[in-house]
Amino acid sequence: MEEIKGRVGSESKHVLMVPYQSQGHINPLLNFSKRLSSKGVRVTIVISIFISKSMHRLTSTTLPDSIQFETISDGYDQGGFAKVDSIATSLSRFEAIGTKNLRELIQKYDSSDHPINCIVYDPVLPWALDAAKEFGLLGAAFFTQMCGVNYIYYNVYHGLLKLPISSTTPLSFPGFPLLELKDMPSFVNDPSSYPAYLELIMNQYINIHKADFMLVNSFYKLEDQVVDTMSELLTIGPTVPSFHLDKRVPNDTGNDLNVHQLDSSAIGWLKTKPPGSVVYVSFGSMVSMNPEQMEQIALGLKGSGFNFLWVITGLEKKKLSPELFDEMCEGGKGLVVNWIHQLEVLSNQAIGCFITHCGWNSTIEAMSLGVPLVAMPQWTDQPTVAKFIEDVWKVGLRVKANENGIMKREEIEFCLRQVMEKDIGKELRINAKNWREMAIEAVSEGGTSDNNINEFVKNIAIGLN
Ligand code: UDP
Repeated sequence: MEEIKGRVGSESKHVLMVPYQSQGHINPLLNFSKRLSSKGVRVTIVISIFISKSMHRLTSTTLPDSIQFETISDGYDQGGFAKVDSIATSLSRFEAIGTKNLRELIQKYDSSDHPINCIVYDPVLPWALDAAKEFGLLGAAFFTQMCGVNYIYYNVYHGLLKLPISSTTPLSFPGFPLLELKDMPSFVNDPSSYPAYLELIMNQYINIHKADFMLVNSFYKLEDQVVDTMSELLTIGPTVPSFHLDKRVPNDTGNDLNVHQLDSSAIGWLKTKPPGSVVYVSFGSMVSMNPEQMEQIALGLKGSGFNFLWVITGLEKKKLSPELFDEMCEGGKGLVVNWIHQLEVLSNQAIGCFITHCGWNSTIEAMSLGVPLVAMPQWTDQPTVAKFIEDVWKVGLRVKANENGIMKREEIEFCLRQVMEKDIGKELRINAKNWREMAIEAVSEGGTSDNNINEFVKNIAIGLN
């Protein structure tokens, strides 16, 4: 008889969620936790003490009792935003301390009424899977990037795609448009630029063969051919809460934990603007923008004459001269905020388009809410996402960069006019709305993502053969 993995026959279905400690990784795992909770699963989300000190909890949402948090040390418990160590050092400290903490957490719940059955972990923290296996628990990797990007990384890991890529001929992968170098993830296009990040990405696969599930925040129709190629991936997304998708579940605004204080002025300001008249601009939580690029965006927005709402976090604001800052916001045309509830903003009827860095969460959130995009990818997986936005899903235009990698004001202005005013913009909006319908279908009862989640939940309780 084959060995049965997992805590079989346990009354409780209890998942320990271990996200990588950044906004773009916590959001999808937290929203996925709510889906699991609605299907009778208890979830404990692990947050580092460091991050918990800078987190702001939304008060508009009430989390169900079946979702709780545990804080653990990652070796940096003083709070604040800047860790002085390199990414490599901070990851290895987290691994050393986190492994010990995870073991203690598992043991603590072992002697409670709710023993843990399964660890859902971010694959950039592969040690969390080792901890699960040590205790005979199920382990589920949760990929927060699109399937296509995982496919490229997976090929690099297995040496099927050799780095550096020397070919000037576009690369061909099943289910992909032809990819030029500029469309490849930055770590692959230029592997020497961020070696520690490339290592972090490659580490996702070192023990993945031990994972019982591979979950991904995408949905089948969005990447059907790639999903068919990587058939072991279970699409469970978009993790955007139903509240935003079809308003079935009130009081769940999603993205409940924020690394910055939310600016409450944005929604009131949006109410004063006509439908479809505002350009929303955000580059997520990680991008550090080249000052010249910031200036070009400011000039492009000013030149376009459209209303805009721009999220600029903390020290990034210092990259714009005070004069330009005042000029571009003149006459109430623009509002610059530190951080907003993005799902609420994208759902607002005043939004006409979204200038995005093409972070995966921002992209899938915008498509799920039917908002067309102006793509300004900066690094990591963003160039590949931008390629799909423009050429596969046809929900946005990508701003062309010059030979120095700068997207100039004229190009930004041109794309904004196309998307906000021209016929092509109407087409992009229709396409975005169609993707929204498909996203709703995927997560609704009987949809592909919903079925995959049900399958996952079923296996948590009965174990796997
Ligand atoms: N976000 C937000 N408020 C903001 C800007 C971003 O709530 O002002 C959220 C956004 O909804 C998304 C996440 O932060 O869920 C950013 O993730 P993404 O993958 O787009 O980018 P990253 O920050 O990982 O680069």
